[in-house]
Amino acid sequence: MKSLVILGATGSIGTSTLDIVRIHPDRYRISAVAAGSDVAGLAAVAREFRVDFAAVGDASLGPALAEALAGTGIASGAGEAAVIEAALHPSDLVIAAIVGTAGVRPTYAAVAAGRRIALANKECLVCAGAEFMRKARETGAEVLPLDSEHNAIFQALGRHTAAEIDRMTLTASGGPFRTWDAARIDAATRAEALAHPNWSMGAKVTIDSASMMNKGLELIEAHHLFGVAADRLDVLVHPQSIVHGLVSFVDGSVTAGMAVPDMRVPIAHCLSHPERIRSGARTLDLAAISRLDFLEPDPVRFPALRLARAALADGGIMPTVLNAANEIAVASFLEGRCTFGSIPRTVEAMLERFARSNSKPAHLDDWLEVDRSVRRETVGHERSAAPYPAH
Ligand code: NAD
Ligand code: MG
Repeated sequence: MKSLVILGATGSIGTSTLDIVRIHPDRYRISAVAAGSDVAGLAAVAREFRVDFAAVGDASLGPALAEALAGTGIASGAGEAAVIEAALHPSDLVIAAIVGTAGVRPTYAAVAAGRRIALANKECLVCAGAEFMRKARETGAEVLPLDSEHNAIFQALGRHTAAEIDRMTLTASGGPFRTWDAARIDAATRAEALAHPNWSMGAKVTIDSASMMNKGLELIEAHHLFGVAADRLDVLVHPQSIVHGLVSFVDGSVTAGMAVPDMRVPIAHCLSHPERIRSGARTLDLAAISRLDFLEPDPVRFPALRLARAALADGGIMPTVLNAANEIAVASFLEGRCTFGSIPRTVEAMLERFARSNSKPAHLDDWLEVDRSVRRETVGHERSAAPYPAH
């Protein structure tokens, strides 16, 4: 019996994880769960799986959670300290599936305690990847990639090391705007941006997929996870989302990680690694799909990818700036306060503004201080971001 902590238990990844645990009640027990503000959803999960501890991120919701769990004997807490307490609850694996920078401290705490982590929260590695991985090496915390592309690459990599690798490729579906022209993308509505053709995910990562910022964040994630230089990381647009990642070795061999586009596949892989369990996903039927297409991404219609590459190449705090500005701009777009096109423009403006003060912080607190100052600068800016000149 493996015990699990699920951070972000009410979200898309959290819910898919629970689906797999329901198939295997003899193998997994959930010891602690955390969520941001959905008290009813969190309490329902805590009751169903009889967890020991439940934490809600919003500090004001402590009494509501305690009331929802009254009489169950389940302990609860509220605020970031409680989410960290959940992360540190005894477990064999921590599923790090909080969305955004809110996930950094709790996930880092689990890494610092030497826990085994299944990492969905890519923002951890974009915000403070160097420090995150340094801490993992120091404590021996094993970080299993849960993001589908990185999980596919992890599987395709086998036991090979960086010296044997020529290149790594992440695929991207291209999102809902794959065939749209630049002006139409610029003016896209919330509903259009949320209509992802292949994947069902939380709102933030869905918007990031539409702008292709998601692939940019994933390039940075791959750089930290696999220790591969930026110029050896490629992106291919692959509309069918069947091949998720590829590893090209120095001898010319290429291995690909393939599966139906269903997050239960990489989640199940992380849960059972190095064994295999049923995930509930349907079997891949290549004859029914019949063809797989691959195209170069378009950096003109999708400037986010270009910005992420530049941030990764510049290093230091630039990926932190990219991530924080993007998170604010995406939230603003989702609340109807700015256009879709102002998301990359805002990020670009913030990268320019912070380039002058680029640095390499030594401690997590310093990375998070950069994150906060970028957020302060970004708020309000996204509504005035000037349009790109017509191409
Ligand atoms: P989601 O929005 O569906 O869920 C987010 C979860 O985080 C919720 O449970 C929410 O309650 C919790 N949360 C938010 N703020 C919190 C806080 N302050 N404290 C504690 N919990 C908090 O998001 P998702 O789609 O499940 O994505 C989660 C992470 O996984 C993201 O980093 C995303 O990039 C990554 N990811 C998601 C997918 C996917 O298919 N959904 C695929 C790859 C990677
Ligand atoms: Mg992904």
